[in-house]
Parts: sequence; C-alpha cells; structure tokens
Amino acid sequence: MPTSRHDVVIVGAGQAGLAMSHCLSRRDIDHVVLERHEVASAWVRQRWDSLRLLTPNWMTRLPGAGPFDGPADGFAPASDVAAHLRNYASTIDAPVVSDCAVERIEPDASGWRVSTSQGAIRARAVVLATGHGTTPRIPPAATALSATLRTIGALEYKNPDAIEDGGVLVVGASASGTQIADELARAGRSVVLAVGEHVRAVRSYRGHDLYWWLERTGLLDEQYDTVDDIRRVRATPSFQLVGSDDGRRVDLDALQSRGVQLAGRLVGSERGRAIFSGSLANACASADLKLERLLSQFDQFASERGLDDLSDPWRPARTIVPEPRLEVRTAALRTVIWATGHTPTFPDIGAPVFDRLGRLVHDGGIVGTTGLYVLGLPFLRRRRSSFIDGAGADAEALAERIDAHLASRNVA
Ligand SMILES: Cc1cc2nc3c(=O)[nH]c(=O)nc-3n(C[C@H](O)[C@H](O)[C@H](O)COP(=O)(O)OP(=O)(O)OC[C@H]3O[C@@H](n4cnc5c(N)ncnc54)[C@H](O)[C@@H]3O)c2cc1C
Repeated sequence: MPTSRHDVVIVGAGQAGLAMSHCLSRRDIDHVVLERHEVASAWVRQRWDSLRLLTPNWMTRLPGAGPFDGPADGFAPASDVAAHLRNYASTIDAPVVSDCAVERIEPDASGWRVSTSQGAIRARAVVLATGHGTTPRIPPAATALSATLRTIGALEYKNPDAIEDGGVLVVGASASGTQIADELARAGRSVVLAVGEHVRAVRSYRGHDLYWWLERTGLLDEQYDTVDDIRRVRATPSFQLVGSDDGRRVDLDALQSRGVQLAGRLVGSERGRAIFSGSLANACASADLKLERLLSQFDQFASERGLDDLSDPWRPARTIVPEPRLEVRTAALRTVIWATGHTPTFPDIGAPVFDRLGRLVHDGGIVGTTGLYVLGLPFLRRRRSSFIDGAGADAEALAERIDAHLASRNVA
C-alpha cells in the first residue's frame, strides 16, 4: 500500500515510467510508480505471440541499465523485452506498487490528488506514463461491421489458431497490420488487407539496417519543435517492417506474393459488404516516392561523410498495385482485425487538458504549468520518443523540469 503523500507520482511501469523513476532517483526526488498490473505488462498482455522488436537489440537502451542480453543486431521477442524491463526495475530499485490502478487525478492545494484502487495519494507532480495507446482507432463508418463479424484490435490478436476459421480482413497496413496479415497468410488463411496511407520500408540498405541509417543521419533525434506540422507527423503510421531471423519483408509486394489480397482504405459497410476506397494506387505511389526520398537522403549522407565501405545504392521496384477491390462480401469474412492505430487511455483527469478532439495538449510532455507531465507518446520530444530507446532522454528532460517545478513551489 503506498503512503499517502509523495513529491511525484508516476502512473505506469513500462519503459517510460521506469526510466522516469531512475531519473528522479538520481536527483533524489521522492516518488512512487503506480502500476495497475505488473512491471512491463504491455509486453506480456498486449503483444501477439510471435512478436519481435522491429528495432535491433542495440536500440534497447535504458538509462542506468546494462546492454540488452542478446545479439546486438538481433530482434528480441516480446517476452525477452518484458524480462529485461523487470530486471531493469529491480536494478534501479524502482518503487513500483503493482495492482494499483490510478482512477482519477485532480488538482488540489498541494498539487494533485491521485485516486487509486488502493486509496488516495497527494502529489506535487504527476507523470502519465500509461502508454501510447490501447483503444483501436476504428473508422466510424465501419463500426457496422461489428454487428456481423468478430472484431478485435491488433493488440488483442495472439496467433492464427486463435482466429476462427474463415476469411480475415485486416484493416491498416502499418507494422502491426502487415505483420499480422503476413502471419495469417503464411498459416494458410484467406486474408484481405485494407490499405490506406502507409510507410513502405526496407529492412536494410547498402549493408546496414534501416535503424543504423536513421540513427546515423540524426533522423531519430529530430526535435518536436523543429518539425513543421508536428500533429501530422505524430499521426504518421509506423514502417511496414518486421524483425525476424530470415530478413523477411512485409511490404505490399511481399504480402501479395504470400497470397494476401489488397484493397483500398476501408470507408464503410452496407448491405452485407465492406466498402473500400479506390485510392490504393495513389497510396502506393506516395509510399514509393517517400521511400525513394528517404534512401536518397541516406545516399547524400553517405557521400557527404565519405562512407566508402557501403555497397552500391539501389532502389526497390515500385509496388505492384493490383486492380483495386472496392468491396468484399462480409459473408466471405469471419473476423476483422483493426490495425488502425490506437489512442491513449489516461486516467480520468479533472482539469481542462484535452483539445476538442480529445487529445492531451502538451508541449514536449509538459501539460500546462501545473506539475502534470506525459511520457511515451509518439514524437513527444524526438522521433524516437515512443521507442524503448527514446524513453531515457525524454525522461531526463522532463525530470529536469520536474525538479525546477518542485523547487519553485518550495520557494513560494
Ligand atoms: C505492437 C507493438 C510493437 C512495438 N515494437 C517496438 C519495437 O520494436 N521497438 C521499440 O522500441 N518500441 C516498440 N513499440 C513501442 C513501445 O516501445 C511500446 O509501445 C512500449 O510498450 C511503450 O512503453 P510505455 O512505458 O510508454 O508504455 P507501456 O509499455 O504501455 O506501459 C504503460 C503501463 O501503464 C500501465 N497503466 C496504464 N493505465 C494505468 C492506470 N490508470 N493506472 C496504473 N497503471 C496504468 C499499464 O498497465 C502499463 O504497464 C511497439 C509497440 C507496439 C504496440
């Protein structure tokens, strides 16, 4: 049972909450980490069985932790990530209270009143580290599909055997959607993939992993306040990429070669049919162009830095776009998997901190000037913010602000 007063309450014991705990401990700031389940629960409860990191192991870096136990260029299974985080929590001696769900936070005279399933706590500052999303973003026009079909979110998917016999519609062609469509097709299932705006990727380029390039060129460290349209960039889908031992591709060409049928963006359903837009060719052309631009950026970087130990530049062929499927009879389907991205689920917050679309308003993780902070959201402070590798620097930057906030209240 937590004591009833702390300088800082951190909500959530994933990588973000733990990294923040470490940064606060280093500054001798009193705090507690409240976790509704157990440390690293998202990596156990909200990942499919075969999931491996799509970032190489060398990117599993956390402040105060040793290197990840595994080959630097390998891709760890989710269970190993969970074990690594549990080990991290004990190494840094994080004051985690498990099975303690934060239900509501509201401002009070001392800062914040935090109501939990184990009682109330007063805190001078609160850090929301509750993850970047668990509720699937379902296109409103498509909710009617739920009436006839079994629908699940990508984070509820476990493996092909747990999906009823019959056709599967996977909606969304980002990392989750393409990986799940790939696994189902390889298990012999009939899969339609609804594809809207997407980000095509290559696993490696000129002898190096994609993330080697993103790190070297500084793209992962781009700052949120230097980007033109940060809202649009934050909503960009993830790369069509998988971390695997066989270097498998999961772009649309690879998926088609494994039997996945492509359709355009799902726009609705009527009279027993799922309806798709005819925009597939445009979406593919745009993704091909963006990938070419990214690879050209890498080439330019290589030539400016005189990197001469690289293999020759190349470009993947343009995506082969099939005749667009504009509809699929729902009778041919049994399951819909929403891989359309997720929205974060925060505890109830008794303060006006959301915009009219329900998004938390923050400036690089600082929510107003009241001692409320958020960590772990996409491109929170830098492009790598929502990766394991992004938690440390963001937590350190916010710990500095928390320190200043607590000191200013002491003076007052
Ligand atoms: C499918 C998938 C694949 C990914 N692959 C990679 C990858 O390859 N490499 C990479 O670096 N990143 C990857 N990520 C991104 C990221 O690393 C994870 O999403 C990570 O889990 C985020 O860490 P977090 O600490 O921000 O949140 P989480 O890990 O989600 O932790 C949040 C914690 O808060 C707790 N919580 C939530 N609400 C409350 C409450 N009200 N009260 C108390 N506790 C609460 C939850 O139980 C949870 O334990 C992936 C994400 C997904 C979804």
